[in-house]
Amino acid sequence: MTKEKAIENLDNVITNIEKARLKLDGHHIVQLVAISKYSTTDDIKTLYESGQRAFGENKVQDLKEKSTILDDLPIQWHFVGRLQTNKINQLIDLNPSLMHSLDSYEMANELDKRLKAKNTTMKCLLQINSAKEESKAGVEPQQAVEIYKKIKTDFSNIILVGVMSIGAHCDDKTIIKQSFITTKNIFDSLSDDGAVICSMGMSGDYEIAIEHGSNLIRVGSALFK
Ligand SMILES: *Cc1c(COP(=O)(O)O)cnc(C)c1O
Repeated sequence: MTKEKAIENLDNVITNIEKARLKLDGHHIVQLVAISKYSTTDDIKTLYESGQRAFGENKVQDLKEKSTILDDLPIQWHFVGRLQTNKINQLIDLNPSLMHSLDSYEMANELDKRLKAKNTTMKCLLQINSAKEESKAGVEPQQAVEIYKKIKTDFSNIILVGVMSIGAHCDDKTIIKQSFITTKNIFDSLSDDGAVICSMGMSGDYEIAIEHGSNLIRVGSALFK
């Protein structure tokens, strides 16, 4: 990816973010996390030099390799993928700025045990399967508030700061919207419990997500093309 192309991609996405957030509220600020899972460290560096600072990976091994290679850049790294129990310690050592994909009470228990053993903490989002799709991870919407509060009470080394969802995988905008509305309603009911981040929206649906209250979008292919 050339520098010109990176700037053009970033400009387009930021322009679209701006339109979408102004439809909602001029005070609504949206963080853009560039998902670099299909990209090389050269492309990450090019996008960094174009102004992007937050990047996310969905595999612990990739996060480790890329963040090590790009160690000299002050990048904010996010983890957005499904976490396997045998990778928990590695993820803790990588110290991501935010873990988006805490997807069950059981995983929270495993993560908290290892965080305690290492005497450290991790900021996390509870992933909600708002589209109710078999293939997606996350807690059921009906149980999300209860599980969030239970994790918060039971596991002191996990710092829950909000929720994350992947929009419905379909072409029907009404169904996609509904999945975002479901997550936003859960987010709103957790505002007294430290929920400040509502992570939803990817290349194909980030404008809809922002219009429905997302304040963090995870964009991959629209930035790296
Ligand atoms: C890959 C991925 C994204 C980005 O997807 P694009 O459609 O390429 O923007 C966002 N969130 C998660 C969890 C992902 O795995």
